[in-house]
Order: sequence, then C-alpha cells, then structure tokens
Amino acid sequence: MLHELLKGFIFSLTLVFGILSVTLAVFLVNRLGYNFSEYLVGSVFPVTITPEDLHRTYTSRSQKIRVLIVPGHDNEYSGGYYRGIREADLNLVLAKELYDQFEPDERFSVFTARDFTTGAYTPEFENFFKNQESTIRKFRDNLRSNMKLFVAHGTIQRNTPIDRNPVNNIVSLRLYGINKWANDNDIDIVFHVHFNDYPGRSANRPGKYSGFAVYAPENQYGNAMASVDVARTLYTQLARNFSPSDLPIEQGGFLQDQELIAVGSNASRNGVSLLVEYGYIYEPQFVNVETRGPIIKELAFHTYRGIDNYFKKRLYTDALETTLLPFNWSTVLRKGMAGSRAVLALQAALKGEGLYPPLSETSRTCPINGNFGPCTENAVRLFQERYFADVLAPYGLAQGTGVVGPSTLSLLNKLHGSL
Ligand SMILES: [Zn+2]
Repeated sequence: MLHELLKGFIFSLTLVFGILSVTLAVFLVNRLGYNFSEYLVGSVFPVTITPEDLHRTYTSRSQKIRVLIVPGHDNEYSGGYYRGIREADLNLVLAKELYDQFEPDERFSVFTARDFTTGAYTPEFENFFKNQESTIRKFRDNLRSNMKLFVAHGTIQRNTPIDRNPVNNIVSLRLYGINKWANDNDIDIVFHVHFNDYPGRSANRPGKYSGFAVYAPENQYGNAMASVDVARTLYTQLARNFSPSDLPIEQGGFLQDQELIAVGSNASRNGVSLLVEYGYIYEPQFVNVETRGPIIKELAFHTYRGIDNYFKKRLYTDALETTLLPFNWSTVLRKGMAGSRAVLALQAALKGEGLYPPLSETSRTCPINGNFGPCTENAVRLFQERYFADVLAPYGLAQGTGVVGPSTLSLLNKLHGSL
C-alpha cells in the first residue's frame, strides 16, 4: 500500500515537474524567443525500465523475469476470422505453447491473461476488470488527457503512421486494465499474441500478404528502450526461421507504435510490452489441420528462444533447432501435395541442410508451410545430389529427381528421423 502511495506520489511529482517545464518552455518561447521545447522532447515520460534492469533481474538469484502472456482478443471480441477459425482461438493455441516453453525455465515466472481451455479471462483478470473498473477508467482517462496536454504543448510529438480503427470502450478498458495489472504486479515482459489480417480482403479467399510483425512502443515512452532492445533480438530469431510481413505499412515486420494500447499507448506501461502478429490468419500452414499445431508450436518455440537469446546475449540459435524434427517419414512425397505434416518436416530438414529456401529464393517465396511446390522440389533435387552415392547412384541416376522416393526417405529418416 505504501509502495502504491509512493508510486502515485512520484508520478504526481513527475507530472507537476513536466507541466511546469512545459509552461516555462512555452513562456520562454513566446516571450523571449528561445526554442527550448525541442530539448524537452522525451523528458516528459521518464525511463521506467532499462536493458540493464532486465539483465540484473535475470541474473539475480532472488528474482525471476515475470512474463505475462496475453492471448489476443477474447471470447466476446474475437478479432480476425477465416473459414471457421477465430483469431482469438488461434492466439490461445499459440499462447499455450508459449506458456509451455517458458514454464520449465526457472529464470522465468509466467502468467496468462486467459484460460487455455475455456478462453475466458483467468479469475485474477476477471476480478480485476470487475472490481477495479473505475480505477482502470481513471488510469486510462488521466493518461489520455496528459498525453493530449503534452502533444498540445509540443513536448511529445505525435507519431502515428498507421491509421488504426479505434477499439470500443470495453476492449480499451480491458487492455488498459491489463497494463495496469502488469504495472501493479511488477511484470517485466508483457507479451501479446496475435494473428494478422487486413481490411478489404474478400472473406473466403486468402489475402496477398504473409509473414510476422513485431510491435514495440514508440521511442518517447518510458518503456521503449528496454522493449525495443528485447524486440530486436526476438525479431532476429523469428526472421531466421519465418518471413517478416510484406504488408507495406508494416515496414519489414518491425514497428514501433504510439497508439497501440497493448504496448503501452499514452505511457500506460512501465515494463517491457511487445505484440507479435504471427502471420496472416489465411496462410496455408495455419489453415490446414495437419500443419496448424506443429507450425504454431514452432513459432512459440522460436519466440521463447528469441527471449532466451536476449538474456543470454546470444544473437540467434542454430538453424537445426526446431520442434518440427525429428520426424519419421513413411510415404512418398512429391510436388502437388498440400497441407502435409510430412512435407512440413521435409522442409524443416532441408532448411537444416541449408538447402531451403534454395539460393535466390527467400522464406517469403519459399515458406515452411507443408505445401510441396517448386521450392521444395528444387531443394529435394539438391539434397539428392548432395548425397549422390546414397540416393542416386544405386538407381543409375545422374541428377536429382525432386521426388522423395524410398531411398531419399530412408536417408531422411537416417539423418533427421527419431528411430
Ligand atoms: Zn488480433
């Protein structure tokens, strides 16, 4: 309680100081012609967390890194939709896998905002939203009016390249509520899980964009420095294994956002907050039932590894680290197969061999998606030629065929199978 009061007091002091500085600067600019306001940019929201803070917590014996996983949307407002799949449910599956990755790691304490079985908010959050509704509303409205004031005085620059639809009042209160809960409970990293979509796509046909995007807070916020530091390492790990979004406004899949409540709009988050859009909801690897579970697990695995890399000061992990292998192949695989778990594993194995995507292709043109197309065929051909003596010579073949027949299957099982 004292802690709370103290925090409130310090915040008020900061605010009063901020407003006084603004007033002084405005006075000097208007009356004396000084241009001080540019020096005040960024000083309004004090830095609330630094990379050193995070590393100190990680290496301390008495504390753990506290991670809150927020499966995006909920049963009431379920986000994107494609052919019977609600985004909120897909988010929940990924969030569960992510939770399972963090849970055994003793350096982390992991929490979830929604129950993985029912999709409902956990009792902790359900009660927090209900019992603290007016406090959350005040928290949000104060932050909003402060922000307006700072923007009006020019101490905070508006930076809103993405035009997003405002969320409704209930959703907004829940998201601010999550930020407040995370602040009150000293959560180091809040992690929002989403799948992407874009407006104007025809309902039952896949859209034209693909890939993941990582969102971090905009630079003027106090949690930006540490959030961006974590986000960069996470992005690097994801980008080595999946293709970044090619939606033009997503700028290569790494964005800092001023208005996204999830990452702390209006300075509503003290700790690190990140949001990942894991790909577009209509991408075949998420739509096909055989590949959906495995690829979501793989995304969660590399997310965990990205965060783990950050704390271990490692840039990325070995290309062969994957949850898609080992795998036991049993049937012939050839061009035209789609939505296949065996093809997904084949692509992962070829990637581990450094053959997928083939040179001159990228993870965008040749994604790991369980569809056996020209990319996979080319990579199989290269694989067969690499192991010429094992695969091709016994059949008197001089070149790879691109078809995974019996000899290629047995070599795959020998190199990347579990038996
Ligand atoms: Zn979403």
